[in-house]
Amino acid sequence: MKYVEIPEKKEPNPKNDNRKEKSSRQSPGSGPWLWGIIAAVVFLLLINNFLAPAITERAMMQTDYGTFIAKVEQDSVKQVVISDNQIIYTTDHCTYRTGPVDDPHLVDRLLAAGSPNKDGKIEFVKKINNQRSPIIDFLMWWILPGLLFWIFYRAMFRRIGRSSADGGGLGLGNFMSFGQSGAKVYADTDIKTRFDDVAGQDEAKASLQEMVDFLHNPKKYTALGAKLPKGALLVGPPGTGKTLIARAVAGEANVPFFSMSGSEFVQMFVGMGAAKVRDLFNEASKKAPCIIFIDEIDAIGKSREGTFSNNDEREQTLNQLLTEMDGFEGDKGVIILAATNRPDSLDKALLRPGRFDRRIQMELPDLEGRKAIIQVHLKHVKHDTIDLDVVGRATAGSSGADLANIVNEAALRAVRQGKDAVTTDDLEESVETVMAGEQRKNAVISPAEKRIIAYHEVGHAMVAAAQSQSAPVHKITIIPRTSGALGYTMQVDEGEHFLYSRQELLNKIATLTGGRVAEEIICNTCTTGASNDIEQATNLARAMVTRYGMSDRYGMMALESRGNTYLDGGSRLACSDSTAADIDNEVKTIIAQAKDKAAALITERLDKMHAVAEYLLEKETITGEEFMSILNK
Ligand code: ADP
Ligand code: MG
Ligand code: ZN
Repeated sequence: MKYVEIPEKKEPNPKNDNRKEKSSRQSPGSGPWLWGIIAAVVFLLLINNFLAPAITERAMMQTDYGTFIAKVEQDSVKQVVISDNQIIYTTDHCTYRTGPVDDPHLVDRLLAAGSPNKDGKIEFVKKINNQRSPIIDFLMWWILPGLLFWIFYRAMFRRIGRSSADGGGLGLGNFMSFGQSGAKVYADTDIKTRFDDVAGQDEAKASLQEMVDFLHNPKKYTALGAKLPKGALLVGPPGTGKTLIARAVAGEANVPFFSMSGSEFVQMFVGMGAAKVRDLFNEASKKAPCIIFIDEIDAIGKSREGTFSNNDEREQTLNQLLTEMDGFEGDKGVIILAATNRPDSLDKALLRPGRFDRRIQMELPDLEGRKAIIQVHLKHVKHDTIDLDVVGRATAGSSGADLANIVNEAALRAVRQGKDAVTTDDLEESVETVMAGEQRKNAVISPAEKRIIAYHEVGHAMVAAAQSQSAPVHKITIIPRTSGALGYTMQVDEGEHFLYSRQELLNKIATLTGGRVAEEIICNTCTTGASNDIEQATNLARAMVTRYGMSDRYGMMALESRGNTYLDGGSRLACSDSTAADIDNEVKTIIAQAKDKAAALITERLDKMHAVAEYLLEKETITGEEFMSILNK
């Protein structure tokens, strides 16, 4: 007789099922996929534990205990497997099953009975339960793979499936409301930003000040029958302080601030984004007066027209947003701010009155603005008296974010040099660091190359200085930078420029060609160092022809349509192929003429070129004043 122990197939374990469900309740709002996984696990459990055994057992013929005993006594049974809840036995032809009966003589009967087997005995087996604890089994087969799956998903969809900060309790009852919005609720005290922290941008501040006033004192407005705009759209290039000013509004108004980024609405599943929008507005109306801020709204507010790839999710989210904005009464005290740097791509429906009807333009700061921004950021830094004018002029075209970065770099530099306060020098140096990278002091450059670099840079400066309208040089340096620049000429605009005349642009192009011209005339060579100059000159010349209407041939004809004005979006030629070829010729002529002009200017001043280049090779850096004094000798 064999007595074998076969590990039994898993039995249904309702206790474990409960635990699974409980644990899922404890982690609410971790995203729809988690629910999906839980559903899948429960489904698998059901299949494994109830359905599969039921199917295999159904296939076996069931007999009663009497028949079983009768068959045993007829010696037709070959094998018996006894488990706690059933007995499975095999005869010559078939496998049957029967319910167990508390029969103390069963073993005796089986032993006594003969069988057609060789040894004349029935082979019978008592099936015993798993030695492994069912809990370990459960962990191994269900929790572990589930966990791996979960980690995988988490890594893949971290951005989208951001878990909510304030999701309420979630039972199975409100399974459908899993899209609890992830909007962070900032308490009043959370926001320390004030309008004072935003330098410049006075028009934007004035416009927003009205909204703050409304939140403080709505009666003043409603008494007169005035309705305040529901929403304002902050528009401007990156880094101009849109996010900052929105926070300042909330800080000034001292109301809750719901801040969400447009991309947070775009979910993997259709309908989730819309649910989030609904949640956000629900929550906000409970906390009114308050401010809702949707950063980078273009992620959901992109125009629905003209896209070939249909994005249902984004469209639904946008529709929900439009509906919610309509549903708000103006006097409820919920103000919706949104920020974008791609206003041209926004859906028209978002911009109509009653929605984001106020448009607040945030522009790159002018000289005064830059000085003010530097001052704001210097407040947090120990510093000597700073010549703001110098730094302000050197940072033309920088955004607020650039300036904040420059001040911080200056502070870092001061620390590196063991100073206890930031000086103007630090700021000037950090302007260059931010624009061109760190100095590469130990880069080895051969004397021959150094000479070419020096003449190249002096060439730019000389042409710039020779053309009266060109801005005077501020500084020339041939210290290589980590950005790859081997040297550069910093030109400083005297005043703020909003317009450029045709002549100024032509002068600019001539200045750009000056580097290469000097290489050719003096060093008798041409190098790759001019690639950036060439690119800039070409872009400028092309823009003159296609966008600024400055060519004789085409006059005021738009030959190009621009993509985005704030991001350097590409532009598309809007003309026939033959015109496109013509444009190239036109561009070529403009640059060639500019180059001829530069060559003439440099040839006239060869002595001065040599003098400045020598000085530069010796000192590596030459300031505008030194340059001019050599020039005027
Ligand atoms: P964006 O317009 O891209 O949202 P941010 O508001 O995020 O720009 O600005 C980034 C950082 O730049 C701010 O945290 C702030 O330090 C600085 N900054 C930008 N504009 C200003 C400004 N007008 N005044 C002071 N700091 C500014
Ligand atoms: Mg921003
Ligand atoms: Zn150059």
